[in-house]
Order: sequence, then structure tokens, then C-alpha cells
Amino acid sequence: MPCEWTEKVSLYLDDELSSEEATAVRVHVGTCLPCRTAYNDFVRLRAELKSTPAPPAPMVQYAALHAILGEPAPPWWRRRLTIPAPVFALTVLLALVGGYVLPRITNRTAPTTSQTRQPAMPQAPSKPEPVIDFSRYDHGGRATLVVVKKTVLPATGARS
Ligand SMILES: [Zn+2]
Repeated sequence: MPCEWTEKVSLYLDDELSSEEATAVRVHVGTCLPCRTAYNDFVRLRAELKSTPAPPAPMVQYAALHAILGEPAPPWWRRRLTIPAPVFALTVLLALVGGYVLPRITNRTAPTTSQTRQPAMPQAPSKPEPVIDFSRYDHGGRATLVVVKKTVLPATGARS
């Protein structure tokens, strides 16, 4: 089980502690075996990093640091994504355009499908009915009104 001071050992080697904290870490490393092991590992890692001609990729350094600290490096899908703000804004904008504007455009360009879905109106077989087209008022071709003459049934019907 890693000691909670182990991370401070790394900070100590990086000279990122106050003098009081550095003294406390030095005393602790002298008494704690996991921290002494970590200290030696850190020193060896630093020596290896300095002897490497090109510094290893940040992912490799990250994995090595976490291997010493005893925590497993989180898998790639758990890591925090850093997206530049303009890219994020553009992504949100594209999502809005795709979800809000595009359905309206596609609905407007396909008015014939809405006409075919209308229920069939009863029509007299003799001649075509007058049709009032409202599309010139709303510019969309959405509705048409079909005027159907009432078929007058004979009054003396022999209905049962
Ligand atoms: Zn310790």
C-alpha cells in the first residue's frame, strides 16, 4: 500500500516544497520504507530521463510516474479531454445547426409528401372539384382546401 507522503517525495525532488515541508519529507523518507523506495525510484527515473537523448512522450512519463506512485494510470476513456475553446464552440454550433435548422430545411423542401399523406376526400365522379390553394399566402404550399359539393340523397329512400 503506497504511503500518502509518496507524492510529496516527488515534489521534494522537484524543489516544489517549502523548507519546512522539505525537512519533514527528508525525515519521513528516513523512517518510511515505501517512501524510501519511491525516492530511489524517482532518482533513478530522473537519471534515466536525463540520459535519454529525446525526452519520452508525456504519456510515457505519466505512466511511469503513476507506476511509482502505485496508482494505475486511468484508461484513455477516463482521462480528461482537453479541447481548445474554438473547436468546442464550433462543435456545439454544428450540433445546433444539425439538430434545429436542418429538419426545418428538409421539411420545407419536401411539401409533396405531406400532400400525399392527406386523407382522400370524397369526390363526385362527374367533374374535378374547385381547389383553393393557400400556398400563395403562406409561401409554403402547406395546405389546400378542396370544396366538395354535398351529394343530396333522395328524400324517399328505402333504407332499412
Ligand atoms: Zn511514507
